[in-house]
Amino acid sequence: MIRRIAALVVTLFLLLAGFAPSAAQADPVWQFPLAANLVEDREGLLIAINKDKRLEAGYVPFNLVPLQLRAVGRGHQLRREAAEALTAMFAEAEAAGFKLYVKSAYRSYQTQSSMYANRLEKYRKDDGVVAVPGSSDHQTGLGVDVLNYAWTQKDGMTPAFGETEEAKWMEANCARFGFIIRYLPEKQEITGIIYEPWHLRYVGEEVAAYIMENRLSLEEFDDQVAQAIASYEAAGGDYAALCRELNALPVPKKLAETDEEGDGEVSLFYQKNP
Ligand SMILES: [Zn+2]
Repeated sequence: MIRRIAALVVTLFLLLAGFAPSAAQADPVWQFPLAANLVEDREGLLIAINKDKRLEAGYVPFNLVPLQLRAVGRGHQLRREAAEALTAMFAEAEAAGFKLYVKSAYRSYQTQSSMYANRLEKYRKDDGVVAVPGSSDHQTGLGVDVLNYAWTQKDGMTPAFGETEEAKWMEANCARFGFIIRYLPEKQEITGIIYEPWHLRYVGEEVAAYIMENRLSLEEFDDQVAQAIASYEAAGGDYAALCRELNALPVPKKLAETDEEGDGEVSLFYQKNP
């Protein structure tokens, strides 16, 4: 028995001695489920703003466009990527029988300031309902509040909106359009914000799918990415160099499922006679 254990120890030692140097020399592998250059966030779509991490008063998103959608009031704007995605989502919701309404989209630091001041004046204390100026997801131009008709007629929004068919549809489908539910009920401790089933936040399709499948807050996602980068670099990798390498590759093109000729994939491999 002792001899067997001794033999095992020797074998293990030899294995470790043999493998350790080659493991250290091997290129580190990027371990995160999403591509390194995607989470590098060159477009600034993954910015996580909250009480501890605020935007400056002068921060204005560079590509705001007006929304041409059913809305409460006028003049709503979002960053172009988010506006296009929201337009597609409204159309599909309507096809599924749901009429959605924009309640609030981009808000400037100044608008947030006056909302916050009004709330303070009315309730004499910060009750956490209106975000401190600079800490609102709405200032990113990527956050938008969406309601159904009945809730546009109410005085305020409460988590009970989550029980409506429209809210359920949005939670089930928003990720396909690149949106997440920014403030999930079980993440209040982390986000510092109550459950807001109406508040959608654009992050892009791949990241939205990952976040909604794993039910993460944007803050947790941020931490996961930071950790993945740290592990990659601890293993000897150069994250910036990896991103440069990936960014230099041609952008992968989505194959059209069908075209007017029929099968789009087949036409890649042969050309019809002229
Ligand atoms: Zn909101």
